[in-house]
Amino acid sequence: MIKSIQCWQCGTRMTLDALASNDGDCPECEVEIHLGEYLSEALDTNQRLEAELAKAHEYGCQYRQERNRAQAELAALKAQEPIG
Ligand SMILES: [Zn+2]
Repeated sequence: MIKSIQCWQCGTRMTLDALASNDGDCPECEVEIHLGEYLSEALDTNQRLEAELAKAHEYGCQYRQERNRAQAELAALKAQEPIG
């Protein structure tokens, strides 16, 4: 979701509402702002974030597997310890 957009000409940040209420022109310099570019950029960002999230999830799964194995090894070692 795009919360604010930046004018490509003057750099002013504005909300979508502010842009819409000014007929799609920058409220500061009145240049026309094409939302299409912003949308494709937002979609690219979204895709990249989803890929990173998937990777993080994968790492998380690997971590849990490693931890479970370590706990199992620890339990096995404890079971081997002589009592007393
Ligand atoms: Zn502007």
